Amino acid sequence: MNTPTLQDVPTFSPLLETTEEQARDMFARAARASERLRKTTVEERLHAVKKLLDHIVERREAIADMITQETRKCRSDALVSEILGVLDNCEWLLHNAQKILADKKVPTPITLLGKKSRIWHEPLGTVLVIAPWNYPFHIGITSILAAYVCGNAVVFKPSEITPLQGLFESLFSVDPLLEQSVFIAYGTGTTAQRLIEQKPAKIFFTGSARTGRKILAQAAEKLIPVDLELGGKDQAIVFSDANLQRAVKGVLWGALTNAGQSCSSVERIYVQDGIYDQFVQTLKTEIDKLVVNAGDTGNADLGGMTVDFQLDIVRKQVDDARAKGAKILTGGDVLCDNELFYLPTLLTQVDDSMLVMQQETFGPLLPVLRFSSEEEVIQVSNNTEFGLSASVWSGDKIRAERVARRLDCGAVSINNVMLTEANPWLPFGGTKNSGYGRQKGAEGLLGYTRSKSVLIDANSAKIEPNWYPYTQQKYNLFSQLIDALFRASPWRLLKAALVGMKLEAEAKRER
Ligand code: NAD
Repeated sequence: MNTPTLQDVPTFSPLLETTEEQARDMFARAARASERLRKTTVEERLHAVKKLLDHIVERREAIADMITQETRKCRSDALVSEILGVLDNCEWLLHNAQKILADKKVPTPITLLGKKSRIWHEPLGTVLVIAPWNYPFHIGITSILAAYVCGNAVVFKPSEITPLQGLFESLFSVDPLLEQSVFIAYGTGTTAQRLIEQKPAKIFFTGSARTGRKILAQAAEKLIPVDLELGGKDQAIVFSDANLQRAVKGVLWGALTNAGQSCSSVERIYVQDGIYDQFVQTLKTEIDKLVVNAGDTGNADLGGMTVDFQLDIVRKQVDDARAKGAKILTGGDVLCDNELFYLPTLLTQVDDSMLVMQQETFGPLLPVLRFSSEEEVIQVSNNTEFGLSASVWSGDKIRAERVARRLDCGAVSINNVMLTEANPWLPFGGTKNSGYGRQKGAEGLLGYTRSKSVLIDANSAKIEPNWYPYTQQKYNLFSQLIDALFRASPWRLLKAALVGMKLEAEAKRER
């Protein structure tokens, strides 16, 4: 393991808390912003996204400075997973939002002949975005922009651990409409609870299942809809016909990017018998080459843990596994005493009785398990309370897809890892305790809207047959219409047209 000297990492910003009065005032201003936004077009709102994209490209080094200082992540993780990911999402919005949010024409059935049907995608009003600390820039900006482009005012509560204080305000000042539509509320869970009390039109929460439950309970009182993006325990399944070198390198990165503090990081590695020993040996060799460092300029592979309580979870899981018979092939401790840099840790001889297999880790641990058959690995790897994403590695494309279909999770990468998240076209979200609702893609964008169904008829003198008065004759004709429409016959449409004409004539008669 290459371990250059550690540098001091800055302390977090002083803790702020938004008061009840400030929360009320913020929502009142957001309601006014929402009214303003209703009068704007998607195209007008996208102007701000274009300006913001250019601004982020220009200021990317300063942004990376701030992200790395607050999170301790290595600089490459900040540049690639946070900044590049945001730019990709901006670009996607610029090219696709208008089309996805445009009014849609939909067909009208024969029973409603002559009318037109439309779906309008309208903003919700003021939405509340509550974010975690692991990707404070990416999760914050992508959720805020998606909501804003749909025409919503946004109240955003960053994690108190990584508030990036002042950064979003400064970036959003590139465009007056964007600046006046987004409100940042700093504080802890107490602030979040105060914001929920203001009854946002919808809550978009990314964080732990534990907090997700609390938010749902509070939101239920006010019937506020909630989308939940929660934790994961993602499996990588490596078949013996996989390209070994690629699978090792992929799993290594998937488990360790952001020091393992990703909701969709690889937390369980299942390797088929035939290549198990070679896989473990190669993985160990690759781990030992990694550079763990702080304050790097882009040349370190891993940064540190962002918070001490997360480090405690990692330590506890390793201690528990060790006590129950797991073998630690490399790592198993921090880089230096009293530092938040936990070494990438390879564990074998793990089983389901261990905490490392049951709970989300959110740290740089790589537990490797052996499996024999396809059916076995599907069963054992699905046996978890989480279902966020997974990866399947195999030279047999048909088998890989067959296995992917049976994994109980929201996303699967085949012969790659965590890559569904990199494509803004693909919706992201989980099953089971990993939450529900989807971010990104057309489905995710439409989650920030509500559909309004519209049926347009001519301003004619026609009286609809189903309107009053109800007569015996009409009743009989409607009964004939059901026979004509829903009994198989080559003359189905002709019969329906004849009955329809009779119904229209009957509708004109006064009682
Ligand atoms: P967390 O649940 O502790 O906190 C998330 C946010 O919720 C913070 O802003 C926090 O202040 C707020 N909060 C705390 N108590 C609250 C309450 N009672 N009501 C309302 N809000 C409250 O999560 P975290 O530790 O910041 O993040 C790590 C978790 O997030 C992990 O479980 C990780 O897997 C998950 N995560 C999921 C995704 C995803 O897309 N599925 C992405 C990133 C992280």
